Formats: sequence, C-alpha cells, structure tokens
Amino acid sequence: MISFQALQSVADVIVARRRLYKQRLGLCHLNAKSIMPLAANSIRNSLKSRSASSHSANPKDTDQLRPSATLADLRRAASGCRACDLWKAATQTVFGEGAAKANIMLVGEQPGDQEDRAGHPFVGPAGKLLDQALVEAGIDRSEVYVTNVVKHFKWSPAERGRRRIHKKPHYSEIQACRPWLDWELEIVKPQVLVCLGASAAQALLGKDFRVTRQRGKLIEFSLAPHVIATVHPSSILRARDDESRHSQMREFVNDLRQAARVVKRKRSVH
Ligand code: SF4
Repeated sequence: MISFQALQSVADVIVARRRLYKQRLGLCHLNAKSIMPLAANSIRNSLKSRSASSHSANPKDTDQLRPSATLADLRRAASGCRACDLWKAATQTVFGEGAAKANIMLVGEQPGDQEDRAGHPFVGPAGKLLDQALVEAGIDRSEVYVTNVVKHFKWSPAERGRRRIHKKPHYSEIQACRPWLDWELEIVKPQVLVCLGASAAQALLGKDFRVTRQRGKLIEFSLAPHVIATVHPSSILRARDDESRHSQMREFVNDLRQAARVVKRKRSVH
C-alpha cells in the first residue's frame, strides 16, 4: 500500500511548482486532485515493478519520497517506473546524475541508444560533445547535474540493420515523466537551468517557445532563478559539414558561457 502521506508529499511539491508557472503553460486546470493520480501512478508502478523483478517492495520506499527524499531515493524509485509505455522497449531507466547541489542543471530530451545501454545520461557521442563544450565554457562537469525530461529511450528499429532510431516522445509521455524532473529540480535547486534542445525547452517553458529565437538569453521563469535554452548537442553532430559544425559548436559554447557567468556572479556576491 502506498501511504497517503507519501502521495500527498509528492503531490504538494508538484502542485506548488505548477502553480508558479501555470499561466505560462496553460495548466490552470491542474490541482492537487488531478496531480495525485500522476504521482500515485509513478510511485505505485515503481513499487509494482520492484516486486515483479524479485526485489522486495519495501513499504519504506514510499516514505523516502517525501520532501526529505534524496536523489538516490528517487533514482531507486524511478528504476521501476511504469507510468507510461516507454519502459517496455528500453533497457533501463536513465535517471539524472551529477552534483546533488549543482549550480547548473542541464536538461535534454531523453536518453539515447548508448545511454540506454549504459544506464547513465549523456555518455554517448552527444554527451562527449557536451563535455568538450563545458570545458570550453569553463564549466566543470562535476559541478553540474545532467538529466532528461523523459527517462526512458524511445526508439524504433531501422529499416535495415539493427540500429535503434531515436523517436520523439509524445506530450503524454513527457507529462507522465514530469514528476521525476520536478523532484530533481526540487532537490538540486540549480541556480541556472539549461534546456538542451527544442523538446526540453518546450516541455519546460511551453510549446510556443522557440530555441531559434531565444537561445542563450536569460529567461525569467519560476523553475530556477535563471533559465537558458540552447540547442541539443546531438544537433551539432548532425551538421552538414565541418565549417557548420565548428560554427554551431562556438554558438553552443557561448550559450553555456552565459550560464557560467551567472554562477560566477553569484559566487562573487557571496
Ligand atoms: S519514461 Fe518516465 S514516466 Fe515513462 S516509464 Fe519511463 S520513467 Fe516512467
């Protein structure tokens, strides 16, 4: 049984956050009553799957999902999440990773093929490019937290061969996964939230948001003291030639420098 207190805790946090930006996202209809099933679903399914996979479902798990929950508690609970169908074709949940009190949180769309196999975010080619860009921007990756709006890899088989082709998650899947990201934000409390790519930016800032028009700008939004949107590093890998790739990389690094400047300013004030 999932305790009512555990559900209430999850719902309270989500509702409080939704209230802050409901106008921007047009989520005025969401309230504790409508959020509760969402929170309940994530937790219930995660417990169900833990017992199904021969781990004993410990009633204490629900207690861990209180405001005092840690990232490790969340990661454990999310490992068995069945709140949407994406877990079926994926290898495992790829939860966020990084410093628990990181100043910068980077949010992408979803794990890719290599992340799905490894169980860690941003470890594939796009992750390596991100590492390089962070170094160039003067940001230490050990000081950031990286995650995705959707925690399972959505893919379809290639017409030929055994490649798994990335598929964009549906709005309903992004919404189903949202409680996990809200919890990550709640615990990490980053100074700067960086949305990587249009999917992450639109999931977090609203579907009218255009990265092409607003990239690299500091946006006022309730999710974090500062929010910046930029491209996803995988788009740089798809550049048509070297010249274009170098130029896109320069712009990407400049966007990340903006985040670095905010953190530096904050440090110099304290
Ligand atoms: S994508 Fe998110 S909501 Fe869907 S099963 Fe995975 S962790 Fe749960």
